Amino acid sequence: MPFRVATFLLASVLGGALAYAIFGLSTLWIGAWLGAGFWLLLDALKAQRLLNVMRRDVSALPSRGAGVWGELAERIRKLLRERDQQIRQSDDRLQEFLAAIQASPNGVVLIDEQGRIEWCNQTAATQFGIDPQRDLQQHLANLVRDPAFVAYLASWNYSRDVVIDAPSQPAGHRGYPVRLSMQVHPYAGNRRMLLTRDITALEQAETMRRDFVANVSHEIRTPLTVLAGFVETLQSLPLDAEERSRYLRLMAQQSHRMETLVNDLLTLSRLEGNAPPPTSQWTPVRALLAHCEEEARALSRQITTQGHKLSFLQEAESEISGASVELQSAMSNLLSNAIRYTPGGGEVVVTWRLLPDGRGEYSVRDTGPGVAAEHIPRLTERFYRVDRSRSRETGGTGLGLAIVKHIAQRHGGELRIESTVGKGSRFALVLPVARVRPAAAVSLRA
Ligand code: ADP
Repeated sequence: MPFRVATFLLASVLGGALAYAIFGLSTLWIGAWLGAGFWLLLDALKAQRLLNVMRRDVSALPSRGAGVWGELAERIRKLLRERDQQIRQSDDRLQEFLAAIQASPNGVVLIDEQGRIEWCNQTAATQFGIDPQRDLQQHLANLVRDPAFVAYLASWNYSRDVVIDAPSQPAGHRGYPVRLSMQVHPYAGNRRMLLTRDITALEQAETMRRDFVANVSHEIRTPLTVLAGFVETLQSLPLDAEERSRYLRLMAQQSHRMETLVNDLLTLSRLEGNAPPPTSQWTPVRALLAHCEEEARALSRQITTQGHKLSFLQEAESEISGASVELQSAMSNLLSNAIRYTPGGGEVVVTWRLLPDGRGEYSVRDTGPGVAAEHIPRLTERFYRVDRSRSRETGGTGLGLAIVKHIAQRHGGELRIESTVGKGSRFALVLPVARVRPAAAVSLRA
């Protein structure tokens, strides 16, 4: 500022001095006024230039100029740069927020005061079958026409959620409709945020849990009813020693059945909670097969008079890694099924072999009744039985194959089932390459 005053005074003095030198003393004041006027004119021109630049393109402001106008230009430029930076930063933040909401597995829809879509993420768009760009500003109730949802949206009572079938069902959802739980949360006056959640899996799990509890109760109630009946008979009827012992034998059978069921249930729950099977614990297949054979011969003698024609083939001397108790249980389970479902005199062939790709396969082939194709995919479901009475007669719980499948999966393997009605079945437990090694290699190393 002192510089400005100084230049102004200098211009007046120069004007005065010039007039004095040329026209004499009497024109000195006029010269001084003219000098001051000239300074003001130049100053106004500079201000005008700055204004012109600002009108056209603020980014073209001079970075540094002389005097107060240059200073002013510089400050304006700095302020603008800061403001631009702030806008860019908040824009970036907004984009990040939107990207985060986009990534959410839940659907998010922002609805304005009139019930029109202001913004929605891709999840909500997919669930509703709408286009997140094209359908902006559309009334949500016109696009999602489920009566329960429309009534909910209009009620302005959002203390609970509303559950509907998703308006857009993805292809190949295997017969279960996608179920959506939707809840509105009002914000900023009359605006609303709608959150949607796919609860299909949750509902299915709940149905499965309910079915499972019902099945377990049913399975336990049946032998319990029989037991209670026998107890009552023993209490109320005078029975001779032979009859008494017959009843007691039947009662023992029922309690054994309940025990087997509880054991299988415990096995399943243990499998679900257990740590993954170890990879460093190797068991010779030969030992596992020997145990299977012992059990199978005993079972065959126990349930049939003729017995079965049992053969055990081991095409390769191998060792397998994993939880040996689980592997033994899976192998025995498949074999005991073959014996239980194959009538006496039938043939059961157990084979261990290496597949061409290096995986190991334990298979049990029988000449039993076989299973119709429509039942095969369901055999590993808990309590699913094709022949209920045959299963019960032979002490089945309906959980055996569910346990085998679980064990196979825990070991990274699979359970393969092939069967032809009237001819027989083949159940195979296939273990991955990493869990199989030749037994010879071990003895060499040892
Ligand atoms: P269960 O205790 O009833 O045998 P599983 O889970 O072991 O239960 O088997 C499920 C059903 O699969 C059995 O009830 C039976 O109908 C069928 N199944 C299993 N193995 C055989 C087999 N080898 N031959 C014919 N049917 C079989």
